[in-house]
Amino acid sequence: MLTSEYFINLEDKHGAHNYHPLDVVLVKGEGVWVYDVEGKKYLDCLSAYSAVSQGHNHPKIKQAMIDQLDRLTLTSRAFYNDRLGLLYKKLSDMTGYDKSLPMNSGAEAVETAIKVARKWGYHVKGVPRHKAEIIVADGNFHGRTVTIISFTSTPQYKDDFGPFTPGFPMVEYGDIKAIENAINENTVAIMIEPIQGENGVLLPPEGYLKAVEKLCHEHNILFIADEIQTGLGRTGAFFACDHEGVRPDIMVIGKALSGGFYPVSAVLADESVLGLIVPGDHGSTFGGNPLGASVAIAALDVIEDEKLVENSRVLGQYMMDFLEEIPKKNILEIRGKGLFIGVELKHDFGGARRIAEVLRDKGVLAKETHEHTIRFAPPLVIDKETVDWLLPIVRDTLLMD
Ligand SMILES: *Cc1c(COP(=O)(O)O)cnc(C)c1O
Repeated sequence: MLTSEYFINLEDKHGAHNYHPLDVVLVKGEGVWVYDVEGKKYLDCLSAYSAVSQGHNHPKIKQAMIDQLDRLTLTSRAFYNDRLGLLYKKLSDMTGYDKSLPMNSGAEAVETAIKVARKWGYHVKGVPRHKAEIIVADGNFHGRTVTIISFTSTPQYKDDFGPFTPGFPMVEYGDIKAIENAINENTVAIMIEPIQGENGVLLPPEGYLKAVEKLCHEHNILFIADEIQTGLGRTGAFFACDHEGVRPDIMVIGKALSGGFYPVSAVLADESVLGLIVPGDHGSTFGGNPLGASVAIAALDVIEDEKLVENSRVLGQYMMDFLEEIPKKNILEIRGKGLFIGVELKHDFGGARRIAEVLRDKGVLAKETHEHTIRFAPPLVIDKETVDWLLPIVRDTLLMD
């Protein structure tokens, strides 16, 4: 029988080393559980960076995909198909935005949002062509394209990959005054994550999102929220912006939009913004295909039908309450909302990867983000019994020497 070691060596030898995975080779998943080559079972506490919020191999999403595979997979947008309109309607009904524009990966949806905001700036706000500025936050993560890494503050994501796209002044995350100071007559948008996931589940100060929204209204600027990771229930609200009752002008979603079956992302906005896009402005061969649309409709149905937003809120709070009680031997800070929790370790502990490796040996898959933080974001279908199994393991591990 082929071992985990065999597959790890294969990847090592023939693949680009753009990731540093934990040494575990997965072959099967069901709900919150995944299994490795040797048959060992693990609780998935990463959920593919929240793409598998509905749990692995969700039977309803799987069935929708199989049914669609039997009918039609790709038409390109040169023709209509009988699924995309249904996805548009579903998104509109669930979110209240008039329209959406479908893409595949999260990064593509962010690129799309940038293009839409710039066009709005030139056609509606009257900014001189090629002068548009979009304010972004320090510590952001919006994806890996050249334009997007042009405004990352993580040197490794950027330093070897210039030249860069201009037009993205950066301000400190959580500082509303800094945004105010960065605004000028060419500012068309502010783009932020309502919680910075890749930066270690960093929450802005209470009231920040509301203040950003207010600034945007006052200065005729679009508010773009990147909810690719935080959206669709992850933080215990449908959108993380809902916690402050904020409604961004442009909402970017991805990841859980397809429950892990197929890449689907989208930009949501009202007619006054997305209505500016005309034929030929933007496109994608696979974006909006009937297979992806069917999967996304089913993935959204599951979030509704199984009340995953509420489960995230209730069990997330339950987890936070438990974690807060753990003696602060190695813990610097615990941050989170819903089932989106980051535990930052004291910086002399030696890095969160050690914790991830010990947890793996105990049957829990969690991943360090940056150096000192470990993230707990299990599929939103997790139940209390499983959380009660998980928490003592996490506590004991966080108390290690
Ligand atoms: C994952 C992520 C992206 C990029 O999505 P990809 O599908 O990997 O391109 C963008 N923004 C945020 C907040 C993310 O978490």
